[in-house]
Amino acid sequence: MQFARFYEGVKLAVHWIRKLKSTVVVTMLVMLIGSANSYATEQPNKDKFEEFKYSKNIKIRVSDFSQAVKLFHWLDLIKLTEIGTETINAIETSGHQLTILHSSSALLSAGVTGAPLSSNLTNGVGEDVYIKFYLDMDDHGTNCVLAMDGKQYIEYTAIQNLFHELSHARHKMKGTWLYFDSEGQAIREENIFRMAWAEYKAKGKVATRIDIKGIEKPVKRGLLNCPVKYVAN
Ligand SMILES: [Zn+2]
Repeated sequence: MQFARFYEGVKLAVHWIRKLKSTVVVTMLVMLIGSANSYATEQPNKDKFEEFKYSKNIKIRVSDFSQAVKLFHWLDLIKLTEIGTETINAIETSGHQLTILHSSSALLSAGVTGAPLSSNLTNGVGEDVYIKFYLDMDDHGTNCVLAMDGKQYIEYTAIQNLFHELSHARHKMKGTWLYFDSEGQAIREENIFRMAWAEYKAKGKVATRIDIKGIEKPVKRGLLNCPVKYVAN
């Protein structure tokens, strides 16, 4: 049925090309083939996702089960450190809901933590929070960040990246978010996590991250490939 419509369309277009030989008609033909092709292929359902509960108030929303397995594993690894347990406990006793969801757009920014912008973020009350995270990454993560020396790029593994977002989430859910220094707040805690993870992995050296406003932004891995790797995941 769709092919017949497509075939009739092509016949009609060829007829008009012969008659007019105009470039406008060639453009029309290209558009017609494009639309026939979109009829023939299944459109992805962007709303298709599954939800799971990690704990009473931590919900995750993923597009396939393997993402859920990966995320649960990372959360469990984070909890092996003291600051990781403290952060997740603070989230779980905040009285608010955290939703961690897979998002392809989060690849660009290496994670986004959001909440309604209200005085509750800073007055000790807190809000419900979401973390958008690119869950198709592997353990190495997708980005690098600047080291404390402001020159070298260091690793930003999946659990370092996730911990950083959990730190934002914790403070937004507890109402202890530093509006004017929210990145600094998360990076300082991320550095404690980096050191705790290095200790857990019995590594002596650890690279920590700079928290000077404006230069702390993560950069995409690949070209740089995070040259400094003191701590393996
Ligand atoms: Zn951040």
